[in-house]
Amino acid sequence: MTHTLPSSAAQTPVLFVGAGPGAAAHLTLGALRALEAADVVIHDRLVGAEVLALIPAHVRRIDMGKEGFGPSAAQSAINATLVTEALSGARVVRLKGGDPGIFGRLDEELTALEEHGLAFRILPGLTAASVAAAAIGQPLTSRGRNKSLRIVTGHDMEGFAEQDWRGLAREGEVAAIYMGKKSARFIQGRLMMHGAGAETPVTLVENVSRGDQRIHAGTLSALPALALCCSGPAVILFGLAPRDAASAISRIQEAKA
Ligand code: SAH
Repeated sequence: MTHTLPSSAAQTPVLFVGAGPGAAAHLTLGALRALEAADVVIHDRLVGAEVLALIPAHVRRIDMGKEGFGPSAAQSAINATLVTEALSGARVVRLKGGDPGIFGRLDEELTALEEHGLAFRILPGLTAASVAAAAIGQPLTSRGRNKSLRIVTGHDMEGFAEQDWRGLAREGEVAAIYMGKKSARFIQGRLMMHGAGAETPVTLVENVSRGDQRIHAGTLSALPALALCCSGPAVILFGLAPRDAASAISRIQEAKA
């Protein structure tokens, strides 16, 4: 009996590769090998210049830059490009900033491939929140402080994203808020409405792991002002202060007591 092989059996899987937040040092070895073995790399705007520089010169690049509110390639155009390239037999790398599975519209692209019987593999990357927390010297979870970590978006397809603000407003909660700059005032309002203290620490880390990384530390009361200071992509670490500042404040409090 003969079996018709599904087309995916012969095709090289499309690799969805996490680029990390920017620095080459945050790329995994697997990601680097994938870039080196690719025929074509289809990348986002959030992929850092250091990572793009690691793509060999002979590899074709397609820039599908997408950004929150700015000019962007329609998702349908990205899906179509992926499918066309994969069907042509090219070794395709779809390179996404951070981890492809976190606010990366990964499922939409996987579905497009599945609809054509095309195979894929996912190579995870370091997400912006992990690297941002490391930059401020803080763990994202801590025994006795927070039993969970929330990864939330400030913005979704409907506009400002609704979240479990009541849960997040509880003492000690920690959230990494992506795409939160434009909705900073909304987020602040919702959290304070549900009882979060105005003095809750909030730190924005802008251009995480890039040469122009900046840390904007303050409190929930200053969140909108902190967001206005950022021109690059930023992740909001709600409930976390840079460790140096946090220890300096507690030392001052101890000295006063
Ligand atoms: N897949 C990405 C997230 C994409 S959503 C990841 O895992 O990191 C885009 C949002 O991610 C931005 O609005 C910002 O909040 C955050 N982000 C991505 N890269 C960043 C960087 N280098 N510095 C700061 N924030 C970043």
